[in-house]
Amino acid sequence: MDNGKIEIKSLLFDELREKVRELGEPGYRARQIADWLYQKRAQSFNDMTDLSRGLRAQLDETFSFGRVDIVRVLGSRDTTRKFLFRLADGNLIESVLIPASPALYGAKSDRRTICISTQVGCAYGCKFCASGLEGFTRNLGANEIVDQIIAVERASGQKIDNIVFMGMGEPLANFEQLMRAIRIINAPWGLGIGARHITVSTSGLAPQIRRLADEPLQSRLAISLHGATDEVRDQIMPINRRYNVADLLSACDYYASHKKQRLTFEYILIADVNDTDDQAHLLAKHARRLSEHARRLSVKVNLIPYNTVEGLPWSRPSRNRQEKFLSILRAKGIAATLRREKGHDIDAACGQLRLQTKRHHRPPLHPQNFLREA
Ligand code: SAH
Ligand code: SF4
Repeated sequence: MDNGKIEIKSLLFDELREKVRELGEPGYRARQIADWLYQKRAQSFNDMTDLSRGLRAQLDETFSFGRVDIVRVLGSRDTTRKFLFRLADGNLIESVLIPASPALYGAKSDRRTICISTQVGCAYGCKFCASGLEGFTRNLGANEIVDQIIAVERASGQKIDNIVFMGMGEPLANFEQLMRAIRIINAPWGLGIGARHITVSTSGLAPQIRRLADEPLQSRLAISLHGATDEVRDQIMPINRRYNVADLLSACDYYASHKKQRLTFEYILIADVNDTDDQAHLLAKHARRLSEHARRLSVKVNLIPYNTVEGLPWSRPSRNRQEKFLSILRAKGIAATLRREKGHDIDAACGQLRLQTKRHHRPPLHPQNFLREA
């Protein structure tokens, strides 16, 4: 909603049809409008040239046609590219476009992946993460989630066919808008991306994991585990004090017994924090137990060497340590991968570009940030 107007790219098809009928138009106009929005990629109602001028004016009065503006791009065509967006209210978010080569999150290697944000900032404050550093500002609307994909496709000229919700924010804390966005991304009248090419990542909101398991859509799930015991997780992820490892694993069991899509444990390797042999053995145990519990769903471990964040004390373990950790998992029969690609600087995790931009360019301070800095 914006000035009492409805954001058109947040509507599901049935809702759009209903609204169009309320304007006294036949239902099939909804199909035409959806086509303009998601296939022909109109940028305003005025672009919708096969609708009458009168109807375009009516649409303009009823709906808002939000968009996200690209303010910075880092990287080049063949590498990971980061996009910094300014939203209508001036807030900044970012997306990362990952080119076709590295196989990621179960996607075939010819897939182009986008990592998108679901919130401005994040309330969960993981100690290693740039997104959480300045706290939480607000949830994104479904339209702002979908628009990241549309804007990056337009700017890059590439068709994106794999979506990971691993940008800024905790997707499951913005459940309604997330589900709305996923439906629009997945629908044939929307962006038409298959559910198994959509991965939601969570830091471990156990009740919402169960809620997601009850949804009919077969999207994939990634759990940011990052520690195999409460002792380790408590140090780096405040959410663990609310839902500890046992609660989280039990929510994963529930998910695994309701879904057929893959579940991934994401595990950032941080030197001297979570990279011991003991953690590897316990992680293997959790993954094995879960795969045994789940009959139809496969379980995978994704090891990610930590990306350093300016101002934070953490670093990645040596290459040897990373490989040793991986070999322990593999020796126990766990499907595990270690991200080895280069480009550490640009491949930095989401949230960092915004942080750098805020630090170096100093746009007007948001009142909340002002209070925090004062
Ligand atoms: N809030 C959700 C999704 C966004 S974070 C979540 O936590 O899962 C996406 C992933 O990036 C998470 O696995 C997160 O732990 C990881 N991440 C955050 N900061 C990182 C960093 N500096 N280096 C590597 N991975 C990082
Ligand atoms: Fe939030 Fe995820 Fe970053 Fe934790 S890792 S602070 S949950 S974005």
